[in-house]
Amino acid sequence: MAASGSQLPFRSEAFDLVYLAHVLGEIPDRGGALRECARVIGPDGVVAVTEGLPDPDFISHARLLRMASGVGLFPTEHFGGRWHYTQRFAKRSATFRSDPARSLSAAIVALSLVATACPLSPPSLPDTSQFELDLEVIRELANAEPGPLPERVNVAVVKESPKPAAGVFGGLRFDTVIFVWTSFQIVYADRFLVVDAPPESPAVQDALRHADRILVTHEHPDHVGGIVQSRHLAEFSDRLVLTKEQGVGVPAPLEPLAYDRHHRVAPGVVLVRAAGHTPGSQLVYVQLRSGRELMLAGDVAWHRSQFELPRGRPRISSWLMNEDAEAVGHQLRKLHELSGGAMLVVVSHDRDQLETYVAEGVLGRGFETR
Ligand SMILES: [Zn+2]
Repeated sequence: MAASGSQLPFRSEAFDLVYLAHVLGEIPDRGGALRECARVIGPDGVVAVTEGLPDPDFISHARLLRMASGVGLFPTEHFGGRWHYTQRFAKRSATFRSDPARSLSAAIVALSLVATACPLSPPSLPDTSQFELDLEVIRELANAEPGPLPERVNVAVVKESPKPAAGVFGGLRFDTVIFVWTSFQIVYADRFLVVDAPPESPAVQDALRHADRILVTHEHPDHVGGIVQSRHLAEFSDRLVLTKEQGVGVPAPLEPLAYDRHHRVAPGVVLVRAAGHTPGSQLVYVQLRSGRELMLAGDVAWHRSQFELPRGRPRISSWLMNEDAEAVGHQLRKLHELSGGAMLVVVSHDRDQLETYVAEGVLGRGFETR
């Protein structure tokens, strides 16, 4: 249904809940729209408003409260933080008087905005994470056996492709964001490991042939395609360290890796099971000789804002990928906690993050050959 947000075609007190997710800022007559929301909820009804950055029409919490008080909506529960929040309101039914006379110029299709904007809005993440990641255990495992720790981590960007920004950040927007396809090289004094193998990259193929071990963050084609399609597969298949889920598409006999929560692969390198984005998703913890710690997080987040704010991935993207959004939400909350300290959480596709870390010397640019 399409109708003006400030002239809702419903009788008064018809609903228990009106939910506006990233919508209010797009409506010219915001006060009128809020007044209509208040009118159509019952005496015990709720109006809930979600706002968040980087929506260009973001409405601050203080401003929302001012607007709501002008239409007889009283703030009740509040969730989230300064830059992404949900505020609920109740109605002051005793003194509230509906006022249906609205500006005729406000021919805004608020309801269809609601319909399209809701799946584009990120889910609210859990306040506390139930994702099991015990950093002390991981550190202990990383140093469980003697042996020199890795010296550095390199990143090879093998492809750039534009993606609709609305699918990454949510909100109604029509610009694109550049996704990079990446492979990581964990370098020891005398050998190296490869994490992720996008397809059609000679540099990645060369690295696969010479890697001591080959890992992936998960089984999507932009991470395993270089293995699945490789004409050198027989040459390196015995060095693949893949779980059953990750190895499903690999046309070679595999001895699948089975582990419960954590698994030590090599000195300083520990896998952390993180099913959610895909069933075979995992984090790769790396502790360097310098003491620096990295967490290669694959696609648990597509952009650093998804765990830094934290903000999550738009619902529609989770739905299209058939991912376990609830599990990913707990993982993002955990990555948010981790990234507050010295740990560097590195995701696969965020060009800006990778460029920053390369510029800072945290990651090496491109692969070293042996
Ligand atoms: Zn990916």
